[in-house]
Amino acid sequence: MDDLFAGWVGWFVASFLGLSFGSFGNVAVYRIPRDGLSVRKPARSFCPRCSAPVTWRDNIPVLSWLLLRGRCRACGVSISWVYPAVELVTGLLFAGFWWRLGPPAGGAPVDVLVPWVMAFLCVVVSAIDLEHFIIPDVITLPGVALGLVASLAFPSLHAAHAMFDATSPHGSSLVVALTGMAAGGGSLWLVGRLGNLMLRNQVEAAGVEDAMGLGDVKWMAFAGTLLGPILVLEAILVGCFAGALVGILLKVHARVTGGDGPVGLPFGPFLSVGILLELAWPGLAWDVMTLIHA
Ligand SMILES: [Zn+2]
Repeated sequence: MDDLFAGWVGWFVASFLGLSFGSFGNVAVYRIPRDGLSVRKPARSFCPRCSAPVTWRDNIPVLSWLLLRGRCRACGVSISWVYPAVELVTGLLFAGFWWRLGPPAGGAPVDVLVPWVMAFLCVVVSAIDLEHFIIPDVITLPGVALGLVASLAFPSLHAAHAMFDATSPHGSSLVVALTGMAAGGGSLWLVGRLGNLMLRNQVEAAGVEDAMGLGDVKWMAFAGTLLGPILVLEAILVGCFAGALVGILLKVHARVTGGDGPVGLPFGPFLSVGILLELAWPGLAWDVMTLIHA
């Protein structure tokens, strides 16, 4: 059984599940920010312009979009490349975690479950944040609750943590999750307060209330329940560096091409990169920093 999953069958299942979850992710990305649409109703996906239902053969992840050359079969309206991208990225992340933590790396198939769920949510949150500049409460609030319950029920989630105590696994696992929640949400909230002070003029000019929304705070509180207090802080550091780097590159690009440059960048996608990196390589950010320091 283990040998079977370590071979091509495992890769096939991981990629297939990833592409399928990516396909469902598109439904979530489209419907969650729009009032009156839920991920359950209507059951069938439809074309946003002509309302034609999407048949199963036009709903195969990535492949259908390529075969249709990015156009609706009924009305010919162009379908955004974001749809196949969401499917492809989710598929690659599922396969990546399988390779890094699953049977090919000597782990058990269940070891990838939490990273898979988080990979799916990272893609959904990033796609929604890029388009709408929000991270919906429907994802983050149940996420916090689920993260705490999962930590209490499955102490192995936090077994590698320094605060984990093998003599009281369930209790200490919950403590790691709660501390992670406070560290993730609290530190980002502080960064947001500081950002408001430092960027007061830009924030007022942009006509928004906050340099950083509370969606990011709840997102990292959720991530903290799964990563614990140390790794979630590293994930935020990675997010800050990645966001600053991309922000600078976009400003330089705007100066060279004479454009305006971005008014603001959504933070969610960068934080998600940090979360996924720390899930795949716990402590990586710290190791890189100490390496640079040495
Ligand atoms: Zn159409």
